[in-house]
Amino acid sequence: MLALGDDILAPYAVQADAAGPRRYPEPEHAYRSPLQRDRDRILHCAAFRRLAYKTQVYTGDWGDYHRSRLTHTLEVSALARSLARALRLNEDLTEALALMHDLGHPPLGHAGEEVLNELSAHVGGFNHNQQALRIVEKIEQRYPDFPGLNLCAATLQGQQFRAAKHGAGESPTLEVQLVDAADSIAYDAHDADDALEMGLVQYDELCETKLWREADAMVAERFGRLDLAPRRRAVVRALLDRLAGGLFHATSQAIASARPTSVDDVLQMPPLVRLDEATEESKRELEGFLFDRVYRGPVVLKSRQRHAERLARLVELYLAQPELIPTEFRAIEAEADVVRTAVDYVACMTDRGFTAAWRRLADPGGGG
Ligand code: MG
Repeated sequence: MLALGDDILAPYAVQADAAGPRRYPEPEHAYRSPLQRDRDRILHCAAFRRLAYKTQVYTGDWGDYHRSRLTHTLEVSALARSLARALRLNEDLTEALALMHDLGHPPLGHAGEEVLNELSAHVGGFNHNQQALRIVEKIEQRYPDFPGLNLCAATLQGQQFRAAKHGAGESPTLEVQLVDAADSIAYDAHDADDALEMGLVQYDELCETKLWREADAMVAERFGRLDLAPRRRAVVRALLDRLAGGLFHATSQAIASARPTSVDDVLQMPPLVRLDEATEESKRELEGFLFDRVYRGPVVLKSRQRHAERLARLVELYLAQPELIPTEFRAIEAEADVVRTAVDYVACMTDRGFTAAWRRLADPGGGG
C-alpha cells in the first residue's frame, strides 16, 4: 500500500506499514493506507462535525470572528502536517491525531470539563482526552459490524498518550509530540488574536510579553508603521511563524544530535519535538498573560461560571429522568452507571444543542 511520502519517511517516523492492528480485523482498502482510513473515519464521524458548534474559548454569543473547536482543530492539523512533512514524519498519522485531538471536549468550553469531572468522580471522572478515546472506541456508531471507529493501534496509542500524559514513562512517537506542540502554538497565537479582536485585551498590554514585542518589532522592521488592525494581524502571523519555525529548527537539531534510528529509539529518549529554551520561556510568559487576562479574566470567567452551573443542572435533570436520554447513549455499555450515560450524552452536545436542551428541560417558560 503506497502512501504519500512513504519513500521519504525518516527511519524514526511511524512507517506506513507499522500502523498496528485494528481491534476488529478488516480487509485492506484498495487504495488508501490504514492511517489514511483512520483520518477519514475521524473526519466523517459525528463528533468531528459537532466541533463546528463547540466553544474553544469564546462562545457563539461573542460574534463570528473567533475560533470554534473545529477551526482550531483545522489550524492544528495544517500546522502539524506542514511540520511533519518538513521533518519527514508520518503526515497521515499526524493528520489523524490532529483531527482527533479535541473530539472529547464538552460544550461551552473548559467550564464543562471541570463540572463533568466532579459529577462523575465516583465512576472514574471525566477529561476530554479520555472522552475522545471513548468516542472513537465506543460512542460513535457508524459501522454495522463494530462499535466506534475501529482505528489502528498507532492512532489509538497517540490519543491514549494524550490522556495519560501527566504520568511518568516513555516518550510518545514524534507524530504525537508534534500534534501536542502544534496544538499549543496554534492556541497561543489564535487566542491572543481573538482576545484582541473582541477587546478583551489591548494591543499595548500584549506588548508586556517578550514574544509579542519581538513579533511587533519584526513587523515594524518589515512594514514600517501600520494601523492597528493590519499591524495586529501581521503580528499574529509573525508570532505563529516564529513559533513554528523555532519548533522546526530546535526539533531538527535535537533529532540530529540524538540520532534516533527507529521509533523504538524515539520512545526511549526524552521528547525531541521542542522549542529552544529561550523561546519556550517566552512562550510560557505569553501563556501566563493569556491565562490571567483572558481565560481567567472577568469577562470569560463570568460566562464560564454561568455555563458551569447550567451544565451541572442539566446533568442532574437527566439523572432525575434518565428515560429522556436517547436510547443510543443508554446502549453504549449495558452496565454503565447512569451518571456515565448522562455525562456522555451532555458531553457530546454542541453549544446550541445544549441551549436547546436547557430551554426544554430547565427553562420551558423561556426566561433565560
Ligand atoms: Mg486543541
